[in-house]
Amino acid sequence: MSLSASATAALPVSGPSGPRLRLAKLCVAVQGSTPEELFTRAEAALKDARFLEFRLDGLAKPASGLPQLRDLLARNRDVTAIATCRRKDFGGHFTGSLTTELDILVKAAEAGCQIVDIEVESAEQATKPQLAKFRAALRAAGAALLISFHDFSRTKGLAQAGQRIKAFEPDFVKVVSTARTLADNLAMLRLIEDLSLHSNMVGIAMGEEGLISRVLGPRAGAAFTFASPGDGAETAPGQAAVRTLIDLYRFEQLDQATRIFGVAGNPIGHSLSPLMHNTAFRRENVNAVMLPLKVKSLDDLLTLTRELPLAGVAVTMPLKQEVLPHLANMDPLTTRIGACNTLRVGGDGKIVGFNTDVAGVVRPLERRMKLKGARILVLGAGGAARAAVFGLVEQGAEVFIVNRTHETAVALARKAKTKALKRDQLAKNRFDAIINTTPCGMTGAIQSLPIAENELNAHLIFDMVYTPLETPLLKLARSRGLAVISGLEMFVLQGARQFEIWTGKPAPEAEMLRVVELALRKRG
Ligand code: NAP
Repeated sequence: MSLSASATAALPVSGPSGPRLRLAKLCVAVQGSTPEELFTRAEAALKDARFLEFRLDGLAKPASGLPQLRDLLARNRDVTAIATCRRKDFGGHFTGSLTTELDILVKAAEAGCQIVDIEVESAEQATKPQLAKFRAALRAAGAALLISFHDFSRTKGLAQAGQRIKAFEPDFVKVVSTARTLADNLAMLRLIEDLSLHSNMVGIAMGEEGLISRVLGPRAGAAFTFASPGDGAETAPGQAAVRTLIDLYRFEQLDQATRIFGVAGNPIGHSLSPLMHNTAFRRENVNAVMLPLKVKSLDDLLTLTRELPLAGVAVTMPLKQEVLPHLANMDPLTTRIGACNTLRVGGDGKIVGFNTDVAGVVRPLERRMKLKGARILVLGAGGAARAAVFGLVEQGAEVFIVNRTHETAVALARKAKTKALKRDQLAKNRFDAIINTTPCGMTGAIQSLPIAENELNAHLIFDMVYTPLETPLLKLARSRGLAVISGLEMFVLQGARQFEIWTGKPAPEAEMLRVVELALRKRG
C-alpha cells in the first residue's frame, strides 16, 4: 500500500471565511457529565495539545457549557476547537431535537469554536432552508463545517459513506467505522488516501483492532486524528491517550519513511514490546515504530503484513507455530524448535522467521558461565522450554528436562538428543543452573514454586516468569545465597536480538531494561 505523502506539521485549511486555519495533527477529545468536569479536563488537556474537541453532548444540558467554552477560548487564542453535540440516535448522548443540536452548534461557533461537527444523518434530516441557515450562521461566525459518519459495528461501505458526506460539500469529511480485523485498517487508510486528494479528510477505525488507523491516518493524508486526554477518558472505543500517541507511538516523528513493526497476539494490550522497542528505536535514531496488533487470525495478520506493509512482527502464542508454513526461510534452530517469535519482512515481501527466545536464554547464561559442558536443568517442556533446550544443547551444555507430564519431557529430550529426568531424581543431582520454564509463580498461578527447596541443587536459578518481577522462586534462591536471572532479563535480551535482526544495529539493552523494569514496577 503506498501511503501518499502528508507532512506531520500543521495543515493549512481554508475556512469558509476569516483567516486560514492551521491545524495540528492531534485533536484531544474531551467530555464530562458536568461543565466543571468538562472544563477541568479541557484545561488539563491544554498542557498536551492546543487542538480540542468539546463533546457538548456529554453534558445533561449542552448549552450550559457555552459560557465556559467562550471564556476558555477567549483566554487561549491559540487553541483550535471543534464543537460536537452528537444525538443519541447517531452514537452520541444528546437527547434533544435536530433544531436544538444545530442551535447549540451555532452558539458554540459564536463562542469561538472554529469547527463544528454534525452527523451525516442530521445533515440529511435537515430541511434545505434549515441547513442553509445553519451554514450561513457558521460562515458568519467564521467556523468550518465537519460532517461525520459513524458505524459502531463494522468497517463496510466506506466509500458510500464518504460520498454521502461529500454531497454536502463540507469543509471536513469524517468517516469513522469499527475495526473487527486488522485488515479493516487497510480499508480505512485507502479511503483516507482517496478522499484526502480533494477533501480535508479524517478517517478512523474504532476499537482495539483499529489502532493502526489512529496512529497512521495522518501519514496517509488525514487532516488530523483524535486522542483522549488520558487513559479512562476516551470518547470513543480504542482511542489512545494523547501522551501514549506522542511518547509511545512516536506520533510526531512518523513520516513516509517510517518502518512499521507490530507485536501480534490476543490479548496484546498489556504487551511491553511496544514500549521496549519504541524506546530502542528512539534511542538509536531508527525511523520505526512498533504497534500492538490484536490478531484473531493468522490470515488477517499476513494480509496486514503484506499490504501495509509491516517491516517485522514479534509474534506470541499460538501464532509462533501457526506462522511456520508461511515463512520463505528460517534459521536452522527455529526449524528444530518448531516455533518462531520474530518475523522480518524483506523488500520483496518474503517473510523470514527467527526464534529470539533462544538468545533470551543463552545470552544471560553465557554472561555468567561457560555453557560448554555445563549441567543445566530445564523445568517444563512447553514452548519456552523448547527454545531453552535446543539453544543450550547447541551451545554444548548437558541439558536435563523435568516436566509435570514426564512423557512430554521424554519426547522433547529425544528430539533434542538430551536427557529427561523423573522428578524423584532431582534431589540427588547437582546442576550448574536450573531454569524454570513453567508458569508456576506467575501472578494468578495456582502453584507458586515449580520445585521444592531441597531440589534447588544449583549455583544459579533462572526464572522465565517476570510477572511479578520478584517471583517466589527467585526470592527463595536469593534467600539461599544463590545467583539469579530474572524473566525480565530474558524478555529484554530476546527483544535486543529482535532489534538487531530488524535494524542491523546493536540494541540499547540498558535503556530497554530500564523502561521495561519501570513499567513492571508501576504495574505492581
Ligand atoms: P506452555 O507451552 O504452556 O508450557 C508450560 C509448561 O509448564 C508445560 O511443560 C507444563 O507442563 C508446565 N506446567 C504448567 N503448569 C504447571 C504446574 N502447575 N506445575 C508444573 N508444571 C506446570 O507455556 P510456555 O509458552 O512454554 O511459557 C511458559 C512460561 O514461560 C510462561 O510463564 C511464560 O510467561 C514464560 N516465558 C517467558 C519469556 C520471557 O521472555 N521471560 C518468554 C517465553 C515464555 P505439562 O506438559 O504437564 O502441561
